Amino acid sequence: MSLLQIENATLKFGGVVAVNDLSFSVEEGEVYAIVGPNGAGKSTVFNLISRFYQPHSGRFAIDGRDLLQCKPDEVADLGIARTFQNIELFDHATVLQNLLVGRHRHRRTTLIEELFFAPRVRQGERCHRAAVEEVIDFLDLQPYRDKMIAGLPYGIRKVVELGRALASGPRLLLLDEPASGLSVEETQDMRWWIDDIRKQMGITVLMVEHDMGLVSGVSDRVLALADGAKLAEGTPAEVQANPAVIEAYLGA
Ligand code: ADP
Ligand code: MG
Repeated sequence: MSLLQIENATLKFGGVVAVNDLSFSVEEGEVYAIVGPNGAGKSTVFNLISRFYQPHSGRFAIDGRDLLQCKPDEVADLGIARTFQNIELFDHATVLQNLLVGRHRHRRTTLIEELFFAPRVRQGERCHRAAVEEVIDFLDLQPYRDKMIAGLPYGIRKVVELGRALASGPRLLLLDEPASGLSVEETQDMRWWIDDIRKQMGITVLMVEHDMGLVSGVSDRVLALADGAKLAEGTPAEVQANPAVIEAYLGA
């Protein structure tokens, strides 16, 4: 059984068909990339999986369980975590605090308690701290651990965003444009993080990405989307050589 299975998903916004009868599945342990021109529906697919958007039709299952029965906060309980195309962190909290918030789904405390370390939070704190410290070590974030997000360079915030998602201990990690805005060097680092997340942490990765170098370097399979529909699916080399994909990209 596939870890994530999407069948015949459709979502329209007014007259725009953002996702059009789309089917694909992601197998446990793979890195699966979605590519496509701007407006192809890539982020909408993530918003559907995260349950931020309700599809007009289609089936969504994780491990055979119906995702459409879940609310957005219950999706995290099923082991799905995501990053956002535009970084979504608490700017006036530290790296550590942001990662503890990412860990929140394992705790019976409020976000405010989490941020200000109310006494109630201290029970079980050590275990969660250890999990978060592990992510900080894994992503080489020790130098930034107690720094405010607002003062950090963009490339580091991007890694913290990844850490926030990892801190929840997901089985399936959704990365929306992990390399956007990154330098060539930072993109190379992101490639190693994604490789390690899959190989060392055993986490399945579904990512949306424009950088074909990153996509080819890290993905097992690629889905090319255009106008919300599947244009091609296969290995990075197969998809890049597909005439329909070349046409959609070059607008020929
Ligand atoms: P991509 O991430 O591939 O660039 P999106 O998924 O963001 O594309 O958008 C796909 C299409 O759906 C676009 O035409 C976009 O304008 C439209 N769309 C996405 N979200 C909304 C929304 N909340 N309301 C109206 N239209 C939307
Ligand atoms: Mg997008």
